[in-house]
Amino acid sequence: MVNGLKRVLATDIDGTLVGHGGEDHFIRFVHEHPGLAVVYLTGRTRHNAEAVIRRYGFPPPIAMATEVGAEIYWGKHMASDDIWAFQLRQDWSPRQVRKTLEALPGVFYRSRSSHWRLAFSVDGEDVVEIVRHRLRRERVQARVLFDPSDGRLDVLPARAQKCRALSHILTRVAVRPRQCFVAGDGENDRDLMQGRFPGVVVANAVHALRELQGESVWLSRHPGAMGVVEGLRRWYAEFEGGEAKADALQFYG
Ligand SMILES: [Mg+2]
Repeated sequence: MVNGLKRVLATDIDGTLVGHGGEDHFIRFVHEHPGLAVVYLTGRTRHNAEAVIRRYGFPPPIAMATEVGAEIYWGKHMASDDIWAFQLRQDWSPRQVRKTLEALPGVFYRSRSSHWRLAFSVDGEDVVEIVRHRLRRERVQARVLFDPSDGRLDVLPARAQKCRALSHILTRVAVRPRQCFVAGDGENDRDLMQGRFPGVVVANAVHALRELQGESVWLSRHPGAMGVVEGLRRWYAEFEGGEAKADALQFYG
């Protein structure tokens, strides 16, 4: 599909690329590295994601996963990935989700923001576990994401995960996980940081994510886009160092 692709940056948008300044540094970095393809992985809907990409003049992506990985779009014309949509639809029943959670005390239905997302309000964090338990008990396949800042609880298809969506994208463009750098700041980026990808957690990330850093995932000193750029610089330096070492070994071996 995309020939000669060397490296991919797969990044969240809100809080990671926007919201903390330095957006122009990010844009410049991508322009200066033409071998780097961009994939956006966002909680936004397609429409909202496109609006923010346009507003900041961010590089056009080779692919984009919206609604926390529920939908995948390809290329300039944002063609929907039908294979992915088919897989997601398999075990997704929004009506069943709503029916299961309706009677639970402390849970209030807010809206259905798209085909893939039901929003509820909950009375406190302990209700979240009750929701998860009830869905399990009723054998409803779904993923629950909770935002403690405003008590919002989103229910999505079980397979709607950024990491899964990214793996699907990389398989289709034949890029290995080590050639893909990930960046994020929020709870819904956690699975990305626990995948097989090198990456960066920006300084403003939620606590749970900042604690995750391991061998190949760094915690940046900078928030937002500056953190992403710092991570990318480091990754490029390490990569080039690694390649030089491999060449040297070949030479002397
Ligand atoms: Mg975010």
